[in-house]
Amino acid sequence: MTQSQAGWIDDFASSLASSFLPVRVDLQAQLPIHPLRTVQTLDAEELLTVLNFKDESREGLVWRLNRISDRLRRWVDEWLDSGRGADGVECPANRNYEMARAVVAAIYKYSTRGKMHLLGTSDGLVLWFDLQEEKTPPASKGLPLEVYIETVASEKLVLLLNSDLSYKLAKCREPECGQYFVLKHWNRTYRGGTLCSSCQRARSLRSAAEATEDERDDALRQLHILAAKKFKGRILKSPEWHKDPALRNRIAQYLSEQIENSKSLTKIYPDGVTGRWVARRTNWEKIESTAKKEGANHVSVSL
Ligand SMILES: [Zn+2]
Repeated sequence: MTQSQAGWIDDFASSLASSFLPVRVDLQAQLPIHPLRTVQTLDAEELLTVLNFKDESREGLVWRLNRISDRLRRWVDEWLDSGRGADGVECPANRNYEMARAVVAAIYKYSTRGKMHLLGTSDGLVLWFDLQEEKTPPASKGLPLEVYIETVASEKLVLLLNSDLSYKLAKCREPECGQYFVLKHWNRTYRGGTLCSSCQRARSLRSAAEATEDERDDALRQLHILAAKKFKGRILKSPEWHKDPALRNRIAQYLSEQIENSKSLTKIYPDGVTGRWVARRTNWEKIESTAKKEGANHVSVSL
């Protein structure tokens, strides 16, 4: 017996010994599908590292881990997608095996290879996985690489599906990202799909910027209406009205007074507006067309 084989047997013995202790149950009772009690539990950090592992290198170990990640991602994606509608709405609690047939096939294949054993413990029967990855290299020697990759990937899949992470694991749906992460609230509906924290932050900033833009458009429209209402007579009298600096300044002064009296306008125009603002083509044209609109007297302004 080689030293490494002896090491593996020691590991096996200690893992058996641990099965006589009460199995750590970190699973929540309200999960839609209840897990089997097992000796081994999932290392969430390690799983995320494997799922998020991407390296173009084609060298030995890295290449092998790449292949395992790839294989695992395909199954995990199918599982995550089983709780996602065609409209992108995602509800992790709805994940199910009926919609994840490749996953079902992978688990079945894994279990029929004799990789799982029942152990009698003081706490009843528990399942023990004959994990390929836990074995030292000599023990896995002779296993064709393809079989090794599939076995390691499927044992990770089985451990994942038998844990609460099967509902808490998520993939960022931002097309540029695709990062796998753990959800804070798995029992919730995500209208636009699940997003990792940095993409969520970026999206919130974007919508805040969009809201500000809406506020700006609204404030600008209000100024055009105010000017049109107040100076309608002068504006309609001459098409050259906007070339008159005195009139432009009077309009600007009036608008600045209105701005001062309105919180929402002050937010956008803290310094008021000037005659130059009125002289800007985009502004005077809009003021003029508003003044010309029939019933301009009835245009309402809410401040
Ligand atoms: Zn993301």
